[in-house]
Amino acid sequence: MDRQNRVGSKFGGGGVSSAQQSERERKERLKKLALESIDLAKDPYLVKNHLGSYECKLCLTLHRDEANYLAHTQGKKHQQGLGRRAYLDKLKEQQQQQASSTITQTTSTSTILPSRPKLRIGRPAYQVFKSRDADTNQRCLSFELHYPELGDEWQPRHRFMSAFEQKIDRPPDRRYQYLLFAAGDYETVAFRIPNEPLDKDHEKFVTHWDGVSKKFTLTLHFQEPSVSFSRS
Ligand SMILES: [Zn+2]
Repeated sequence: MDRQNRVGSKFGGGGVSSAQQSERERKERLKKLALESIDLAKDPYLVKNHLGSYECKLCLTLHRDEANYLAHTQGKKHQQGLGRRAYLDKLKEQQQQQASSTITQTTSTSTILPSRPKLRIGRPAYQVFKSRDADTNQRCLSFELHYPELGDEWQPRHRFMSAFEQKIDRPPDRRYQYLLFAAGDYETVAFRIPNEPLDKDHEKFVTHWDGVSKKFTLTLHFQEPSVSFSRS
């Protein structure tokens, strides 16, 4: 009779010798299962020495075979050693995390906007022109930004930022404000300009996006102090 292939054989009756045999088989099977599930090849503490026996690197103990080592790993000494090691590893990990979070904080202060985790094309080419209005003698600034690789779905945007809102120039200087330009995957660029009131007249503050040449222009005029303090 072939017991191995008989389904439900554990319910069948048997003599003393077959009971002993099945008990031995059971133990062998369990040992094999344990060896497989623990995978001693990945155990960092099991070392096979040149005499063919096994050592536990954690407890510095000797074992005649893998099964004996396995039994040792379930023992108190080894378990306490594992607990101590896990505690030390956790401590080390926490220290590393603290170190890396310090680096993140340091780098975040050097960018105006929180960096997004995506590829940037780079900075746009730009030119700034200073002039005076021929009629009013107002100071005028004109910004030209070139975005040759900007996708058609994007249009550049501008934004003003106070000295206290920006994070690059430290300490903040209230004599300045910042003009930012952002467009798609290009890097945002900022220009520091005098913190003086701007002329909001629609002919004195003009933006223009040329989607063909991919050129964005912004022209602004400062209100001259003489204008804001003028009396009628
Ligand atoms: Zn051990």
